[in-house]
Amino acid sequence: MPQNSYVSRPRITVVGSANVDLTFRTSRLPLPGETLAGQTLHQGMGGKGANQAVVAARLGADVSFIAKVGDDGFGQQALDAYTADGINVSFVQRESDCPTGTAAIMVDDNAENCIIVVAGANAKLTADDVQSARAAIEQSDAVLCQLETPVEAAIKAFRIARAAGVRTVLTPAPAKLVTDELLSLCDVCVPNRTEIAEMVGQSVQSDADASSAAESLRKRGVKQVALTLGGDGVLVLDDSGIQHVASHKVDAVDTTGAGDSFTGALAVSLSEGLSLVEAARKASIVAAISVTRMGTQTSFPTQKEIQQWFV
Ligand code: ADP
Repeated sequence: MPQNSYVSRPRITVVGSANVDLTFRTSRLPLPGETLAGQTLHQGMGGKGANQAVVAARLGADVSFIAKVGDDGFGQQALDAYTADGINVSFVQRESDCPTGTAAIMVDDNAENCIIVVAGANAKLTADDVQSARAAIEQSDAVLCQLETPVEAAIKAFRIARAAGVRTVLTPAPAKLVTDELLSLCDVCVPNRTEIAEMVGQSVQSDADASSAAESLRKRGVKQVALTLGGDGVLVLDDSGIQHVASHKVDAVDTTGAGDSFTGALAVSLSEGLSLVEAARKASIVAAISVTRMGTQTSFPTQKEIQQWFV
């Protein structure tokens, strides 16, 4: 049991990526060698780690973020944005001679896109960096990892957490980087349909496919699975069996970051003592609100906005 379990505000530590997303809108995508005039440019904050940290903080958790950004303007902007959301950034290091992780996203009038992501400082996060934030992990209710930063960092975080009895939550993306050790240290795994298909080596179309894929993650050591199925909701599986949680019917305008908003919210609710299925119901509300708004971190609601949503 973590020592801080008497504190009512959940403590969450996120280990993962911090990116700046640059979205260029053009009437059509450029051909090789071509220069096109774009219509608009939008700069937003992204990276799965930062996304999950931001949503958890907006839901009232006490969040520490273990990450790396570059010693550049984007890195400073990212730190300022996380600080404005109340995230503890004392474990976000500035890496010199290395850019902040950046995604250049081109979107045309038909919503086709081309994306280039430079991992930059994200690729420099090490197990030693995680070790130096050991106390924060040990005092958390949950530690969240994804794999846009090196897998060694995630394994280190999960080992520390497991030894301290802290819940471990994994977003297995990119799925090809998942290792058996990581799964054996994982309390809650939150894949989407594509990720679980890659992990189990079979396509996941039907309900039966989804159930058997989730079961096979449990056989590899995962205690609880929350398989997100986009507008089709979530399949949850733990010792009490398998259950489906329907998604909320909303007018979706931008589903970017839906999975991260779901995972951050799920971790907060589990830390508050909700069961897996109850936590998935609450996280589905957060994710549903996020898809009704444009952008990634800009679309994540606060606790107050969630309450207003039901008025
Ligand atoms: P990812 O963003 O990782 O691909 P999903 O697309 O599975 O993840 O979405 C995660 C969760 O977000 C879903 O389980 C659901 O709760 C919610 N969600 C996604 N798309 C919609 C939608 N069109 N309408 C309502 N909820 C949605």
